[in-house]
Amino acid sequence: APPVITIDGPTASGKGTIAHRVASALGWDVLDSGALYRLTALAVRQLGVDADDELAVAQVAAELDVAFQGDLVLLSDVDVAALIRQEEIGNLASKVAAYPPLRHALLERQRAFRRLPGLVADGRDMGTVVFPDAPLKIFLVADVQARAERRCKQLKEKGFSANLPGLLEDMRLRDERDRSRASAPLVAAPDAHIIDSSSLSIDETVNVVLDHWSS
Ligand code: C5P
Repeated sequence: APPVITIDGPTASGKGTIAHRVASALGWDVLDSGALYRLTALAVRQLGVDADDELAVAQVAAELDVAFQGDLVLLSDVDVAALIRQEEIGNLASKVAAYPPLRHALLERQRAFRRLPGLVADGRDMGTVVFPDAPLKIFLVADVQARAERRCKQLKEKGFSANLPGLLEDMRLRDERDRSRASAPLVAAPDAHIIDSSSLSIDETVNVVLDHWSS
């Protein structure tokens, strides 16, 4: 099977940036699995589906018409890359991500991204559930304050309003929910390398991952 590097970790740990940089260094594809949960949340909102109905939400996910083209995230041919980054959609994604039928509906879709020459897969359960045979697994952590500051900066750069205390609170709640859910809780795979990026630059973190890959 084509090689996969999995990068899991809590929200705003820098996984997305690191995954893209590692992928471009290796010439591989990237899977942003969180985007699939966010797209499901957005589609649930847009279609007016009851977000508490697990089967209805899973059905929405099974029928998503999604394409990733460079920086574009197309949902039924409309670019929603900016829309899905909103905190409100992230929070709804985190809520529905606890539904086993939804996780099941997205499983094969995620595995289909595994192609030559290789894939860098970013998420919560890439190393534990989706690609358990990945030859390199990274679990990226950073303290919650560092992550909230990064997310705040990111949102402001994209023209969204953001306040740090609110983000800190949301992030604690989301971490707690991602860790404590029964289905695919956020935990490091036993064979994952844990990297704390709180005091590392992006370049340093990318280099740690690439060093693991080449050794
Ligand atoms: O990584 P991101 O913040 O975009 O993910 C949004 C939400 O989707 C997370 O809070 C998490 O609950 C969920 N998720 C997941 N499994 C993944 C990726 C994301 O449960 N592999």
